[in-house]
Amino acid sequence: MVTVDSSRRRNLSAVLRLVHTRRGATRAELTRLTGLNRSTIGGLVTELAGLGLVLEADPAIDGVGRPSPRIEPNPDVVAVTVNPDIDAITVGLVGLDGRVRGRLRRATRRVPSLDRAVALATDAIDDLVAKAGRPLRVLGLGIAVPGLVRETDGSVVLAPHLGWRDAPVAAAFTAGTGLPARVANDARLAALAECGYGAGVGHRSVIYLNGSASGIGGGVVIEGRPLRGRSGFAGELGHTVVNPAGRDCHCGRRGCLETEVTRDRLLTALGLADADPETLDRRLLDPGSPARAEVARQLDWLAQATIDFSNTFDPELIILGGFLGSLQAADPERLAKAVRGQGFPALGTPPEVSRAALGPDLPVIGPAELIFAELITDPAIQRMLPVSTASAAR
Ligand SMILES: [Zn+2]
Repeated sequence: MVTVDSSRRRNLSAVLRLVHTRRGATRAELTRLTGLNRSTIGGLVTELAGLGLVLEADPAIDGVGRPSPRIEPNPDVVAVTVNPDIDAITVGLVGLDGRVRGRLRRATRRVPSLDRAVALATDAIDDLVAKAGRPLRVLGLGIAVPGLVRETDGSVVLAPHLGWRDAPVAAAFTAGTGLPARVANDARLAALAECGYGAGVGHRSVIYLNGSASGIGGGVVIEGRPLRGRSGFAGELGHTVVNPAGRDCHCGRRGCLETEVTRDRLLTALGLADADPETLDRRLLDPGSPARAEVARQLDWLAQATIDFSNTFDPELIILGGFLGSLQAADPERLAKAVRGQGFPALGTPPEVSRAALGPDLPVIGPAELIFAELITDPAIQRMLPVSTASAAR
């Protein structure tokens, strides 16, 4: 039986979802998009405003020329995020309006242990919250990990490059920060973020390939739904063999995509020991870059894998994120041409290849969405949460 309560909760959820994903909407748009009547929308907006989740801004002119109050997500309702990798921890602060309020990359000299990652992240989160300079309602901590994640209990089954195995990651970060935490695979989250707000908007079937210091991960969205597989581990596209005569891979095979196409080899070709994403990008785009031959070599291997993925999944679009985006930007035609030229002709139009649109904010927006998704499912639930900063939560 549908009770008044459950239908109201569903309607609250639908309105908050629209306001969040559209980064604001007029009452008239909410009425049209939900099919609910004006007074119901008015009541729901009042309730969301009472919960502190939305703000009513100055009226915008609606489609028939009448002013309609604009409803904005409250930017001071935030999620914090962590993306641990082998050479750095990236921490972010994202408002419910989808704006990244802050992002910090803390380079590490060694591959961080879970305890070290928690300590670094806790410190960086405090810095970000303090820099905001105003009270924030911190909903929780979203964590994006390059590895196999069991989302149901927040544990990392295996993050091979980090050396984390059967690690209770969510529990460890909650103990350190005092915040409720959720964990998921970094590429899966990036795929959802690009499909929601980036290059994938308007596309139903998308393959996302993520290049990080840890290797290459993938996220596959088919007909608008993320492909999860039996255990939620689908999308390990980095372990597609492209060069049987290549280097040994930690997975036990040889010449996987992620052993042939690596950030490390790009850094070596550039003569760099480390680089943040912006620096790597700039150096690869430099016309006098000493890495041109390495870029061409890696793009050719990436093309081989991309053609296989395209034949297997029949996507409209292939999105490249992380260092793969920088790699493609260094010679955009090379990969697109290979994909156009070698696809299975019977499949028809080959997919477009495009760079992730969210840039360096991508590893931050994905895990924040994990936290916002919970709030949106049941907006009234956050009545239970204290209004606090991350520091005060401990
Ligand atoms: Zn492998």
